[in-house]
Amino acid sequence: MAKQAKMVYYFGKTKTEGKGVSKSILGGKGVNLAEMTRIGLPVPPGFTITTECCDAYYKSKKKLPSGLMAEVNSAVKILEKELGKKFGDDSNPLLVSVRSGAAVSMPGMMNTILNLGLNDAATQGLAKATKNERFAYDAYRRLINMFGDVVMGMDHHAFETAFDKIKKKYKVTEDTEVPAEGLKQLCEDYKALYKKQSGEDFPQDPIKQLQLSIEAVFGSWNTSRAVRYREIEGIRGLLGTAVNVQSMVYGNMGDDSGTGVAFTRNPNTGENKFFGEFLINAQGEDVVAGIRTPQPVAEMPKWNRAVHKELLEIKKTLEDHYKEMQDIEFTIERGTLYMLQTRTGKRTGVAAVKIACDMVKEKLIDEKEAVMRVPANDLTQLLLPSFKPTARNAADVLCRGLPASPGAAVGKLVFSAPEAREAAEAGLKVILVRKETSPEDVDGMNAAAGILTSTGGMTSHAAVVARGWGKCCVAGAGEIDIDEKGKKIKVGGRTFNGKDIISLDGTTGEVMAGEVETQEPKLSGDFAKLMKWADGFRTLDVRTNADSPADSKRAREFGAQGIGLCRTEHMFFDADRIIHMRSMILADNEKDRRAALKKLLPFQRKDFEGIFKAMDGLPVTVRLLDPPLHEFLPHDADAQKAMAKELGVKPGQIVKRAEALHESNPMLGHRGCRLSVTYPEILEMQVRAIVEAAISCSKKKIKAMPEIMIPLVGTEAELSMLRAKVEETIKETCEAKKFEGKLDISIGTMIEIPRAALTADKIAEHADFFSFGTNDLTQMTFGYSRDDINTFLPDYLSQDILHVDPFQSLDQSGVGQLVEMGVQKGRSTKSKLKIGICGEHGGDPSSVDFCHRVGLDYVSCSPFRVPIARLAAAQAALRNSKK
Ligand code: ADP
Ligand code: MG
Ligand code: MG
Repeated sequence: MAKQAKMVYYFGKTKTEGKGVSKSILGGKGVNLAEMTRIGLPVPPGFTITTECCDAYYKSKKKLPSGLMAEVNSAVKILEKELGKKFGDDSNPLLVSVRSGAAVSMPGMMNTILNLGLNDAATQGLAKATKNERFAYDAYRRLINMFGDVVMGMDHHAFETAFDKIKKKYKVTEDTEVPAEGLKQLCEDYKALYKKQSGEDFPQDPIKQLQLSIEAVFGSWNTSRAVRYREIEGIRGLLGTAVNVQSMVYGNMGDDSGTGVAFTRNPNTGENKFFGEFLINAQGEDVVAGIRTPQPVAEMPKWNRAVHKELLEIKKTLEDHYKEMQDIEFTIERGTLYMLQTRTGKRTGVAAVKIACDMVKEKLIDEKEAVMRVPANDLTQLLLPSFKPTARNAADVLCRGLPASPGAAVGKLVFSAPEAREAAEAGLKVILVRKETSPEDVDGMNAAAGILTSTGGMTSHAAVVARGWGKCCVAGAGEIDIDEKGKKIKVGGRTFNGKDIISLDGTTGEVMAGEVETQEPKLSGDFAKLMKWADGFRTLDVRTNADSPADSKRAREFGAQGIGLCRTEHMFFDADRIIHMRSMILADNEKDRRAALKKLLPFQRKDFEGIFKAMDGLPVTVRLLDPPLHEFLPHDADAQKAMAKELGVKPGQIVKRAEALHESNPMLGHRGCRLSVTYPEILEMQVRAIVEAAISCSKKKIKAMPEIMIPLVGTEAELSMLRAKVEETIKETCEAKKFEGKLDISIGTMIEIPRAALTADKIAEHADFFSFGTNDLTQMTFGYSRDDINTFLPDYLSQDILHVDPFQSLDQSGVGQLVEMGVQKGRSTKSKLKIGICGEHGGDPSSVDFCHRVGLDYVSCSPFRVPIARLAAAQAALRNSKK
């Protein structure tokens, strides 16, 4: 720290320093106390010690910077003069609170010390000044206790035992029943205890008390709890905490006093109505401590109409000044209102949208600011059904799993995918319960209202698939014992079977017994308005990942501008199709394979027609078959037997084929374009289905715009060869159909293997577009298998090796480099090359920001994340144009 740097900033009537000094120096609390003083609000005066002093304290082996206490002393002098009170005075003593306050609000820091400055003499002074001896000794005993606790780290228990002794002596049970005499005695006992435990007298010099407290606040910056919190929240680069020293006001001076907390608007609904609680005859902490039940602020006029009116005026002053909803703390001392804190109020997604739109209407902010105000991820809450809060509160919670995919689901228990499908077809709502899910379960998962698994993490199959659909999922609920055969679950000593209904809260991970009442999302006018503003600012297109007409339609309603990833493998799992797929896989020659594929063709064509129709006039990127073939074969003996029977072959044949397809590392195995190289007939069938669907649409005046995407390309040769095959098939199909019109079909590839990014200039010669498959690109760049990452990811996160799951938020410095390189190299060959990204990252706001910065044309994400991506894209455009 430069020698000249100012260490103490005063706020009060005499002067208010530090205009324009940032939160990083004065902390959030300090900046706002000064700001409120400056705009004329009634703030008890005081001063703030900078975070730079905290930094200096650590740099000099925990010594306060020289000159600090001198500056503190002169600030105290000004404070004394302004208030006409004196530190340690025996007739009218000055008392202060000492509060920590970093740039970011942070639990785990030191608790606030109230009533600092009291000593034997000052306590008598306080008794005189307030004409209330009991009050004065109560304040003193609280100070000795708090000071011993938080500054000296003494055993809290000892203080309690001493208090209990006094209570016994006076034959009372409540603190409040102890008379002044008893509290006076207690202060003596506390001082003795203090001396016994710390080896020193309780400091009678208020400046000494202050100095020790300042050191303690600085010390609390690096408690393990605070350090851990900063790690978890990814808070870096702060200098330390500031210290706020503020003159005391009392909410506990009788029935004309009180204290409260409030929001300037309703933080749950966003309604523009002052919202808060207050407690008569109480000090700050009592409101949150829950000892007595506070009253809603709306009741305040009955108690003190003038104070209520003043609070409403302060609401307006604060919002006019900050142009934001505020969260405040206030205290009323003998009918006079004081402001003790203000900060931006936390709010739900629903409230965020409403407040942003209302504030535009009220001309407090403009549309750009409104778009920047709403955290894109918080829109999730507006897009999903939820439990009615009243019903939620009364629910019978069985256990808590991982909140894998948000939402609310209610239904009867089912234990297999076919059961889920059957029930759904019969119009029943069910919860699919599995130990874990696999690709074979997808249609059952789709049919279920919600999914519950007892193993697996946030990136397990169940979690990823459910999130993709916006379907409620609780994963890894380990307390649940699932008996799949017996069709029942055991949890907390209770058993539930297929006749029972349960409710899942995918937002909290809670599993509840019985039917908890839900409510549908309201796509309110404000939400639509905000989206319209966002669309006006963004330059990135937003597409969706969808592989059914229903998903496509929903995504389009959410504003998707096309499909960025239509996976085709899900199309093979339906009961009437999987059989052909399996017979294709079982075939040992091309002719039999073609015969089986021929039966699959009409299904695929119908799917594509439906999707093209839903996306009429918008591009649809269809990815050719990607997963390894073994995923389509059953793996347990019973299912293999059933399949053998259906196909009229020996079970042994299936076992043999499954064994032959087994790979030790399927993620890096025979999949993606490698399948098309070995079995070109699969590619041919799929392309034919796409082209026939496009032709049929064209006849119905539906504008199909397929983009055929070849997955997992790593070399130029793969793409050039397969592209030729695709072109040939398009030509043949048109000829066979005698189609003379023009089809709008482009051919491109997914960039998901590092080598493809490295040679993107070569690959671009054969591609009309690139789409970054960032899931595989992340797997292969890190060498982490996405399906197995849960074995070590928790350790990596807790030990700060990784700060976020790289499958949820794009690793911009590593994987991002490959993306950037792919873009540059690709466009060095074709300057107009269309480039997008598909996969989970496309709906993650910080990844969207990255995509904007590297110049992608679009991002693609699951239907339910489309509005989130639209908002994130607008924020990226606004954020980056400011720079
Ligand atoms: P937190 O971050 O836990 O809210 P604060 O520093 O805001 O900690 O203070 C804890 C409680 O003490 C709050 O209720 C606050 O309003 C009250 N308080 C702090 N300073 C004063 C003061 N000078 N006079 C009266 N009450 C105070
Ligand atoms: Mg605090
Ligand atoms: Mg506070």
